[in-house]
Amino acid sequence: MTHDHEYERAVELSRNALGFLQKSKTAPVPKNYELFYTYASGTNKSLNEAVRNMLSDKNEISREDAALFYETFIGTSRFDTKVEEIGAGMSSEIKEVLKSLTSATDCTSSFRQSLDLVNDQLGRITDLQQFELVVRTVLAATQKMAVNTEELEDRLSSSHKQITDLHMDLEMVRAESLTDELTGIPNRKRYDHVLQDAISECQETNQPLSLLMMDIDHFKRFNDTHGHLAGDGVLRLVAKTMQANVKGRDLVARYGGEEFSVILPNTGLTDAVTVAEQIRNAVKTKELVKKSTGDSLGHVTLSIGAALHRRGETPKELIERADSHLYSSKHNGRDQVMSEDSAVPEGATDAA
Ligand code: GH3
Ligand code: MG
Ligand code: MG
Repeated sequence: MTHDHEYERAVELSRNALGFLQKSKTAPVPKNYELFYTYASGTNKSLNEAVRNMLSDKNEISREDAALFYETFIGTSRFDTKVEEIGAGMSSEIKEVLKSLTSATDCTSSFRQSLDLVNDQLGRITDLQQFELVVRTVLAATQKMAVNTEELEDRLSSSHKQITDLHMDLEMVRAESLTDELTGIPNRKRYDHVLQDAISECQETNQPLSLLMMDIDHFKRFNDTHGHLAGDGVLRLVAKTMQANVKGRDLVARYGGEEFSVILPNTGLTDAVTVAEQIRNAVKTKELVKKSTGDSLGHVTLSIGAALHRRGETPKELIERADSHLYSSKHNGRDQVMSEDSAVPEGATDAA
């Protein structure tokens, strides 16, 4: 394709992307534009299918759905591309090292074998953790290699630096892929890993492990009254406040839209409820202020459910139990913490 053609095609795609944005009543922010640009290009089949299904169902794509599509179909592939790039960098670096080693007279065959192996594995890697393992192997092998010739020494030290840089890139991509973009706290992916590990650990050590699930009360109303941007500000503030009220190995994560969760290792239910009460109070006493005008936007409250891990329980089961207590809090009037230890007041119904 000539440059002119490429340019014309890009112009046409962006025109179409804007058209789709308008038709689906989606906010014209850069991410949504990228989403529809990709949609218009037709290069991402799963995205196109998901968007088509939603449009035929609802005739519009909400802000949350657009964010979810982005996360699912574009965000992830962006990380995949990064990993592929880093992988290619590693691979060519290793090839260079192999060349130097072949020309050196006294290279150790075990080192060469380990590089061969790694180079071979690079092609089959599917996730970041596997990839990181390979990087570590190369790093260790390069460090351990007895260096006998000057040329080889230079070659290896520059290669060592390059591999270390690539490793740092990888760490950055990984951190980014595990962090919620809006609030800067761990996202659901990181949360799932940490919870799985925490459960395995508590089964081994017999230490208690508690979980808090929380949801902002009447948040839709807040958004409707003050706008989504102000709502986003509230999510950031809630995340920050939660983090300020936990310590050590406790992990605060964004579980979903306006839902958060806290993993509390080595913590029994009574202490977990105390932490939950602290968070609930800290959030409700924060006065929300509109940055642009300084106007007060009032307060938001949280409903929280707490559960203590039971032996043999899966992450899903534990989350569901904490969630059921969260819903008791909602049904019981919101702005409260409930657990299996809570006495349900008489006359409380599920009808709220
Ligand atoms: P309840 O007390 O029962 O939880 O009422 P609610 O209005 O909070 O519950 P509902 O589940 O009906 O609404 C959740 C709202 O959270 C809807 C959605 O607009 C909002 N929300 C979810 N994610 C985001 C986000 O990233 N930013 C903003 N501003 N709002 C969000
Ligand atoms: Mg909710
Ligand atoms: Mg809510």
